[in-house]
Amino acid sequence: MEHFESIALTTAPNPPSWWYRYVDDTHTKLERKFADEFTHHINNSDQHIKFTTEEEHDNALAFLDVETIRRPDGQIKTKVFRKSTHTDQYLHFTSNHPLVHKMGVVRTLHHRADLICSDPNDRLEEKTHINNTLHHSGYPSWAIKQATRTRKKAHTNSVQRNGNQKKVHVTAPYIKNLTEILQHTFRTYGVQLHARPFNTIRQLLVCPKDPTPSKDVCGPIYHIRCEGCGDNECKMDYIGETERSLQARVKEHRRPSCVTSEVSKHIHNDSPGHNFMVENVKILDREPDWFKRGIKEAMYIRTHKPTLNRDGGRYQLPRIRDNIKITHAQWC
Ligand SMILES: [Zn+2]
Repeated sequence: MEHFESIALTTAPNPPSWWYRYVDDTHTKLERKFADEFTHHINNSDQHIKFTTEEEHDNALAFLDVETIRRPDGQIKTKVFRKSTHTDQYLHFTSNHPLVHKMGVVRTLHHRADLICSDPNDRLEEKTHINNTLHHSGYPSWAIKQATRTRKKAHTNSVQRNGNQKKVHVTAPYIKNLTEILQHTFRTYGVQLHARPFNTIRQLLVCPKDPTPSKDVCGPIYHIRCEGCGDNECKMDYIGETERSLQARVKEHRRPSCVTSEVSKHIHNDSPGHNFMVENVKILDREPDWFKRGIKEAMYIRTHKPTLNRDGGRYQLPRIRDNIKITHAQWC
């Protein structure tokens, strides 16, 4: 578009006095008598790029979320523009999101009003509209007041902070009431904790690829349960991880001479005749990252206490994790 503009605008016989563009949307000012001629010119500059035009109505023309209005004295004023189909719906105050996100909604809308409205009366009208809309979305007055009060402060703080040392940022799923406490604690150590949604509709519904057959899944944390032999029931079990496919690792567990496998020792040396079915090997989790997989394996071992595992896994889980339980995660 930049290349197109440089050619189309320099070769136009009567170019517009301004031409603002955002992606494929432009706002131009030119004399009405040259409008058709200019449209014809830009539509003939490139065979693949065609424009449609919209003229001002009642001295007003919208561009993105700005409405430009021509005043009787010839000056231009701007205010916030909303399409007629706009529903004024924002993140509801009672929804399961961090408070900072909700305060962000208030701050953003007020910031936009300050930035776009050139006339003080329009700005006041816009802010009244924002506050009414937010009240409908459950925002209490204190939240609106607090967000608008801290807006200026937050801006100056961020400017000052940028000059100082870099902050550490951590992202974790949002859990109501817990995230707020953690954020406060982390902040005292100079760590900024950001919350992300726990489950999104996209994660739940969008699964563009066919699921990999469990035997081909790479990087699994798996659970093998010995099925004994005949009527001889056996409760021994084992939790392990591998970066290869489940199938490849399970083959090793079945091999008689595999000294690195506790399962192999059990079914071939300690309890000959015992066996397990490959189809019954359960995938507890899946983690491509080597380090994270080690932690997860250790957490599953700590939670389930499988009888065949000699130790807590390749990662030494600290005692603080004793009371944290990990459950079979959903993977796809
Ligand atoms: Zn057994």
